[in-house]
Amino acid sequence: MSKKVIIGNWKMNPFTSKEAEKLFSGVAENISDIKKTEVVICPPFIYLEKLKKLSKKIILGAQDAFSGDVGAFTGEVSAGMLYSVGARYVILGHSERRALGENNSDINKKIKSALDAGLRPILCVGESVRDENHGYFNLVKAQLEECLAGVSKTIISKVIIAYEPVWAISTTPDRKDATSDDCREMAIFIKKILSDKFSAEAGKIRIIYGGSVNEKDAGDFLKNGGVDGLLPGRASLDAKKFTEIVKICEALEK
Ligand code: PEP
Repeated sequence: MSKKVIIGNWKMNPFTSKEAEKLFSGVAENISDIKKTEVVICPPFIYLEKLKKLSKKIILGAQDAFSGDVGAFTGEVSAGMLYSVGARYVILGHSERRALGENNSDINKKIKSALDAGLRPILCVGESVRDENHGYFNLVKAQLEECLAGVSKTIISKVIIAYEPVWAISTTPDRKDATSDDCREMAIFIKKILSDKFSAEAGKIRIIYGGSVNEKDAGDFLKNGGVDGLLPGRASLDAKKFTEIVKICEALEK
């Protein structure tokens, strides 16, 4: 089985390149003894090349990638371009991008082109609300099936599924805390959908949790949430908190 993974999503932060270097170095300095945990940081595109030079240990990821290679796509950045400046992962289908109009079919194209370019997609799925009739299970099922349509069994182990209930994300107004029980129930459901679609290969797909996870509840989600890692947003903007989450993961019995 692959290592557990802690992925920091910096979103559109920090404001300057100097601050980005300071934050990144603050993490790099404190994780030199980490062996069992993969540490990934996803900064804004423009910081990737510079940060790549600061650590061999931290793996870089991007926060989106366009589905084309090169061409007349004003404002877009392709997966191949991101690979060439050092990214090895890419977050796709984040709820903040879905809110800007991205749909499952767009995300499916992006996943395929990311895989072609050698990037490992981190596919975000998750419901905005939990309705009493449990319709949110169908929504997550549709996200998985439509976003992963046509992805071959031979390469599916490169994909990470991030379960991010939108109602638990730190920037959602009136957000609520998700529990490790909520997470475990959905992780089991996701595993079943993946196993129906990809048979034995599904066992190699890592499922992680994101939604206001921090240094206080990381251990609970990792021990009781049925997941192989975490995707902190806000907590990844604090080198001390992020490093603490990495160390909590590292200290787990494997
Ligand atoms: C996210 O939006 O990917 C996320 C998990 O953010 P936060 O941890 O700030 O809720």
